Amino acid sequence: MSAIDPLPPLREVIARHGLMAKKALGQNFLLDLNLTSRIARASGPLEGATVVEVGPGPGGLTRALLAGGAGRVIAIERDARCLPALAEIAAAYPGRLEVIEGDALRVDFAALTGGAPARIVANLPYNVGTNLLTGWLTGEAWPPWYQSLTLMFQKEVAQRIVAAPGSDAYGRLGVLAGWRTSAKMVFDVAPSAFVPPPKITSTVVHLVPRAEPLPCSVKMLERVTLAAFGQRRKMIRQSLKGLGRDPMPLIEAAGLDPTERAENLTIEDFCRLARLAEGGEA
Ligand code: SAM
Repeated sequence: MSAIDPLPPLREVIARHGLMAKKALGQNFLLDLNLTSRIARASGPLEGATVVEVGPGPGGLTRALLAGGAGRVIAIERDARCLPALAEIAAAYPGRLEVIEGDALRVDFAALTGGAPARIVANLPYNVGTNLLTGWLTGEAWPPWYQSLTLMFQKEVAQRIVAAPGSDAYGRLGVLAGWRTSAKMVFDVAPSAFVPPPKITSTVVHLVPRAEPLPCSVKMLERVTLAAFGQRRKMIRQSLKGLGRDPMPLIEAAGLDPTERAENLTIEDFCRLARLAEGGEA
C-alpha cells in the first residue's frame, strides 16, 4: 500500500489510542488508505473543496480527503476517544481540519459551512445513516446547502436509495431520493475491508441535488408515501385511506388506476398525488 501522507498507518493509530470499535456507535473502520482515497475521489475533484464528514473515527477517510486536496474538512465525531487521533491529522494539515465533537443528528448542518459551497462525504455509522440521509433530503430549502452527498451504506440500503418503480427495493426512501436528487451506486466494498468486518457488503452512493425537483410539498409527499408503502401489498384505493380521507377523488384526479399498488407508481405519480392532497392542481 502506498503512503498517501506522512502520518502513521491507521492500524498503529488505532492501537496507540486504544480505539477498539464500539458496535453501539456503528464503528466499522476502513484502514486501507487507497480505498478511502477512492471514496474521497468518488465525490468529484477535491482540490480546494469544502467537505463535511460525519463520523471520521480514527481518520482514514479524513486523511484521504485532505491528502486529495480538500481545502477544508469539517468533521463531526461523537466518540471522544477519536479526538486525539484526529488532532494529529489536524496538526499535519494546519488550518484545514476542524473537528466538532457531537451527535450528527443534532447538528445544524446548513450553519456549519457559513454558506460556502460544500459537499458531504462519509462512511456513515449504519445505525443512523438512513436518518441522516432523510434529514438531508427533506430540508424545506431547495437546492440545499450541500452540492453533493457521497455516502457509504449497507448495500441493501443503497439499493433502496436508487430503486426504480416496480422493484422490491422501491419505497419511501427511493421516492424521496429520486424526487430531489439524481442518485447512483458507485462501487461495492467487501466486508473484509472493514475492522471489524460487518456481516454484509457495503456500497458507496453518490447523490446530486436536482436543481428543480417536481413541485410538491415535502411533508405531503412523505405522508402520501407513508400511507402507500405502509401497506405496499394493498391497492392504492385501500392503502391511501391512511391519508385520513376517501382517496378515490385524489386517485381519479391524478389519473391513476385505483387497483395499482404503491411499488408501481412513479415519482411523478406520487408528486401529483401530493399536490392534489394539498388542494393544488395535478
Ligand atoms: N470514517 C471512519 C472510517 O471510514 O473508518 C469511521 C466510520 S464508522 C462506520 C462510523 C463513525 O461514526 C464512527 O467513528 C462513530 O463513532 C461515528 N458516529 C456514530 N454515531 C455518530 C453520530 N450520531 N454523530 C457523529 N458521529 C457518529
